[in-house]
This record gives sequence, structure tokens and C-alpha cells, in this order.
Amino acid sequence: MARKPFIAGNWKMNMTAESGKQLITELKPLVKGAKCEVALCVPAILIPAMSKAVKGSKIKLGAQNMHWAESGAFTGEISAEMLKEYGVKYVIIGHSERRQYFGETDETVNKRTLAVLKNDLTPIVCVGETLEERENDKTKSVLDKQLEEGLKDVEDVTKLVIAYEPVWAIGTGKTATDEQAQETIKYIRKKLGKLFGSKNANKVKIQYGGSMNAKNCKGLMAQPDIDGGLIGGASLKTDFATIVNFEK
Ligand code: PEP
Repeated sequence: MARKPFIAGNWKMNMTAESGKQLITELKPLVKGAKCEVALCVPAILIPAMSKAVKGSKIKLGAQNMHWAESGAFTGEISAEMLKEYGVKYVIIGHSERRQYFGETDETVNKRTLAVLKNDLTPIVCVGETLEERENDKTKSVLDKQLEEGLKDVEDVTKLVIAYEPVWAIGTGKTATDEQAQETIKYIRKKLGKLFGSKNANKVKIQYGGSMNAKNCKGLMAQPDIDGGLIGGASLKTDFATIVNFEK
């Protein structure tokens, strides 16, 4: 069965309840006819207001992180139960900004991923190499480690989404070429095949992320192994709808 495309926005630490509601109100009619899955991953504090705002639309709600424990003394963290109370469906795990600035490791990515799956939510697990790693021909070994360790003990890999986000392309305006993105995502699928069997690997949605926008989305989405996008900057504007409607 063909993999249904999935376009997700990552608002990062942007928007307020007011501006978020306004953007979603503008997006709703624009994404009405979308053929793909659509989600917006919003800051935790905006989840209650945005869960109301997306009601009756194609837009599903996502979070940007989640702790692996059910509850407890983890100041500043968010649990699955808290997210589910507001109808959250997706959780971004291991975004490069969390790895870079907040000490996220493959081990914590693994703990979070397993907890998200256990709670019947869908993790969007981010992987990707830095510019230095790419230039030193380490892309494959970096991805191997992130996938082997980050997805350790995952029972059903078809229940998660992978976002391939080359760190050098995030927020920089430098997009990977269609060919670079396809070639690397094809490699990720091959690696998933080795870890979980090729039948399962062929069912996993793999997004591209890194300066994807209304102009370059069609070329990227036309690649056979690219099943969607994780969109940062362009998800803060109605351009997001143009990406969602890439098939039109
Ligand atoms: C991201 O944050 O996941 C991302 C891809 O950001 P941008 O689209 O702004 O590069």
C-alpha cells in the first residue's frame, strides 16, 4: 500500500495563543482539500488553545517533546497523559535543536520514542548529520548510530515517522537538493530494512526537513522515498498551506 504523505509544521518557540489562533483560522479553509496528513507541532503552553482552534479541520495537533515517565519530579517536562488530554496525536522526538542545545542523546531519544509509542501517540523521530559530518563523509555512520540507538527495542517501526533533517539545512535557507534528500532517505529506509525487515521499512513514513518551503516542496515531494516534510519557518505563515497542497 502506498504511504500517505504527511506534512507537519514545527512552530518551535514561536507564536502566541492569539497569533496561533489567527494563523490556524487562515489555514483551515486553505487546507480543506488536502490529500495528505497534516499536523502542527506547537509549543506545549499553546496546546489547549490550539486544540480548540484546529477542531473541525484536517489539522492534527503535535507536541515538540515528551518525557518518558508517566509523572513525577521532572520539573519543566510534559507527560503523555497531559498531551492526550488535549487530543495531541504526534510528538517530535530528538529534534536537532534539542540534541544541540538541551543535551538530548540517542539514549534519551530512545526512552522518549518508546514512551510515545506505548501511549499510542506517533513519534516523529528526527535524525540528521551536521555539515562537518557530511563533509567528512560520516553521514551514513551518524544516521546508523541515531537509528540503531534511537529506535532500540521498538516493536513496530511502522507506527513511527522518521524526519531526516540535515542540521546544515535547518533554518539556514540551504535546502538539500532533491537528489541529496532522496539518496539519504533511501539509505535510511535501507537501514530500517536491516533493523526491522524491508517489508516494515517500506511502510515507514520518512519526511524531509530543512528549509522546505512553498517553492521547493514539489521537487522534494516528487522523490520516491520522501513521504512528507517537517516544516519550521514556513509553518509560521500561510505558505504552510501551499506545501500541504503540493499535489495540486
Ligand atoms: C525544523 O525545525 O524541523 C525545520 C526543518 O526548520 P526549517 O524549515 O525552518 O529549516
